[in-house]
Amino acid sequence: MENINWTDLTFGYLKTDYNVRSYYKAGKWSDLEITDSDQVSLHMAATCFHYGQEAFEGLKAFKGKDGKIRIFRMRENALRMQASSRGILMAELPVELFEKAVLEVVKRNLRFVPPYESGSSLYIRPFLVGTSPQVGVNPAKEYLFVVFVTPVGPYFKTGFKPSPYVILRKYDRAAPQGTGNIKVGGNYAASLVAGEIAHEKGYSAVLYLDSKEKKYIDECGPANFFGIKKNTYITPESHSILPSITNKSLMTLAKEIGLKVECRPIRVEELADFEEAGACGTAAVISPISRIDDLDENKSYVFSKDGEPGPVSMKLYNKLRAIQYGDEEDKYGWITVVE
Ligand SMILES: *Cc1c(COP(=O)(O)O)cnc(C)c1O
Repeated sequence: MENINWTDLTFGYLKTDYNVRSYYKAGKWSDLEITDSDQVSLHMAATCFHYGQEAFEGLKAFKGKDGKIRIFRMRENALRMQASSRGILMAELPVELFEKAVLEVVKRNLRFVPPYESGSSLYIRPFLVGTSPQVGVNPAKEYLFVVFVTPVGPYFKTGFKPSPYVILRKYDRAAPQGTGNIKVGGNYAASLVAGEIAHEKGYSAVLYLDSKEKKYIDECGPANFFGIKKNTYITPESHSILPSITNKSLMTLAKEIGLKVECRPIRVEELADFEEAGACGTAAVISPISRIDDLDENKSYVFSKDGEPGPVSMKLYNKLRAIQYGDEEDKYGWITVVE
């Protein structure tokens, strides 16, 4: 590992030097534990194994031209993990402890933060699990919080290229009043089969519709959806969508560059009016969508005919990346510089 090829990194796991942990016991969170082991030892009856008490987060640290390391919107991730905890009755981790743990794990793994020129970054994965044994269905009394990091490559190895998505009405990711709005592993388990079918058919991901009526756009598996129409950035509103921090940031930047922003229900047929469409999330920032095939209805909505992303998506992508790498001023207080 002493010779990491920074430009060849994928979105995978590479062992780093340290991870940090905190244990919740008798109503209290422990001081941070720092370890070089990437194993955890748990009771076989822990609630995370049986009843899905697991939530996670994903954020990134970027090395700038000036050599400084910047973490993007860490506090938002801390707050979202608290919301996830409330949603599945887990102990809530204080925001300050979340932030302290993230800074600690980045500082302990400085040599894994990819250089500015590589376009790579350090992915930070905090997670929280119920650890005490419970055979009847009940929340755990004890919890484990871990943060590990791993360097990841630019999401688009072949450049920022649009790819096709698919609507598959037979599968739901989340129930209308279920857990779609919190970042829990259970939602991902529920999406694996549809995701695999999409991949087998040559699509990047599934675009989910609302599970109740199958009339409105929900989100794209692990990323939110947005469309561009008549100088407007439009993203769906729904209880079962995970509130993406990237989407929230793009809405702010869209306003800054003079677009209107609408967060409202989007009917499937409205896709025909969009000039551009994309999926957004921490991993890719923006994944431009070339085409959405609605296989059940035998319809296809095309957004990119020449294999290039649209001008608005490009502009938003460049602007967000520039803030993350420190090339553009941090007007909104999104960045924490690692001192
Ligand atoms: C994490 C996640 C996203 C993206 O959220 P970001 O905060 O932008 O990374 C979108 N949808 C789902 C279901 C997610 O789990």
